[in-house]
Amino acid sequence: KVFVDNLVKKFGDNTVLNELSTTINDGEVVCLIGPSGSGKSTFLRCLNKLEEATSGTIVVDGFDITDSKTDINLVRQNIGMVFQHFNLFPHLTVMENIVLAPTDLKVLTADEASKLAMELLSKVGLADKHDAYPEALSGGQKQRVAIARALAMKPDIMLFDEPTSALDPEMVGDVLAVMKQLAEDGMTMVIVTHEMGFAKEVADRVIFTDGGKFLEEGHPTDIFERPQHERTKSFLDKVL
Ligand code: ATP
Ligand code: MG
Repeated sequence: KVFVDNLVKKFGDNTVLNELSTTINDGEVVCLIGPSGSGKSTFLRCLNKLEEATSGTIVVDGFDITDSKTDINLVRQNIGMVFQHFNLFPHLTVMENIVLAPTDLKVLTADEASKLAMELLSKVGLADKHDAYPEALSGGQKQRVAIARALAMKPDIMLFDEPTSALDPEMVGDVLAVMKQLAEDGMTMVIVTHEMGFAKEVADRVIFTDGGKFLEEGHPTDIFERPQHERTKSFLDKVL
């Protein structure tokens, strides 16, 4: 569960997130949509403190990460993040990429980690690739490994920042299918995406972000079929 209250993020004089408040419940799938520069990535990055909030409160799994006394590394162990670019370690095999964090952080033994890694690789449809190096994989395969790697820490929450934007169109479906399965398994997910079809189908809630504000939010049917704000309408006219 994530609780955000009055979150403000400034870069110098530039207010990028302007008094955002929301609660993301356990098992909820929230899709963030909105124009370039509206603050979607910055919001996501605040949730695991890759960016520090200027003011406001963010509570993740009961830990106030805006409190400097909170051990952010501990909280981060429960937050998986998947970016547009996969950031796999090129010198490690798929298997080694996946077991690295849970064994390094002593969350799992080596045996437990490799067993879990094989389960996760099956789940993302890549069981046969455990010995491959990232360079031998397609973009979509790399991204599915990146998802498996994040899941190896058994996170409570998964954050996705445009996970399919860098992929060739024919790879997008495989990655979205993995994310949809994860949603159906009950994972709490916050997803920045331009895949409106996916948001419509999978999201419990869609938030339209504009100028650092959550301008409009609601069930995907309401947002996509009955948008209330002119800004939402004109954005959707452009992207749908
Ligand atoms: P896109 O759809 O293009 O990814 P976005 O909604 O994710 O856009 P952000 O990346 O969150 O937008 O950026 C929001 C604003 O914050 C932009 O004006 C951007 O220039 C600014 N910004 C982001 N990161 C930094 C930074 N590290 N330093 C200064 N300004 C930044
Ligand atoms: Mg972004």
